[in-house]
Amino acid sequence: MFVRYPYERQHRRSPKTDERSSWAERLLLVGLTIGGLVLPLLYTFGAHLRFADFPVSGTTRRKTTASGAVLQMCGLWLFWRSHYDLGGNWSPSLEITEQHTLVTRGVYARVRHPMDAAQALLALAQMLLPPNCLAGTGGLLMFLAFYVVRVQREEQMMREHFDEAYAAYAATTGRILPRWSQARRVSGGKRGAS
Ligand code: SAH
Repeated sequence: MFVRYPYERQHRRSPKTDERSSWAERLLLVGLTIGGLVLPLLYTFGAHLRFADFPVSGTTRRKTTASGAVLQMCGLWLFWRSHYDLGGNWSPSLEITEQHTLVTRGVYARVRHPMDAAQALLALAQMLLPPNCLAGTGGLLMFLAFYVVRVQREEQMMREHFDEAYAAYAATTGRILPRWSQARRVSGGKRGAS
């Protein structure tokens, strides 16, 4: 939320040339907030979800908490860094702005969806933190549904706008896992790559 705030302000001011948000995507964005934020907060500050607790020993709990915290730090860093690299091109739903450029540097040099990768890391961390079936799995289930509904539509939109530059970029990067071999920056694109 705090990471997104400056980019949200910038996004509101940018004129759009293409907007493709669907009701399913909007619904899943709400679901993502419920699964990844509301459920963990309810678990932490209330007793409503205690019926879904499962028993876990003290040693296991310490290990899963430590691993979850490390994953969470990595996820938060990647979430921040992908917003930083995407800059004014960021949008909460599928949109192209007048000044849109194809970003192929920073964390986008090796993976096409680092922000989604960050959300996956945060969802995995969430599974390791609360010993509770609902608060633990809500984030991952909602993320998977969101990712499946959105990733191909997003790539289709980018292909339509950036033609061969996006095809060349896609050929040298992984979708959600980094591609290390052949990783190189591509240049070009309808409005220029950065
Ligand atoms: N799925 C990406 C980006 C999420 S933000 C990720 O996980 O990192 C969504 C917006 O980012 C889309 O509307 C699209 O316009 C824009 N976008 C996605 N990849 C981009 C890229 N490589 N360069 C510029 N804009 C991009």
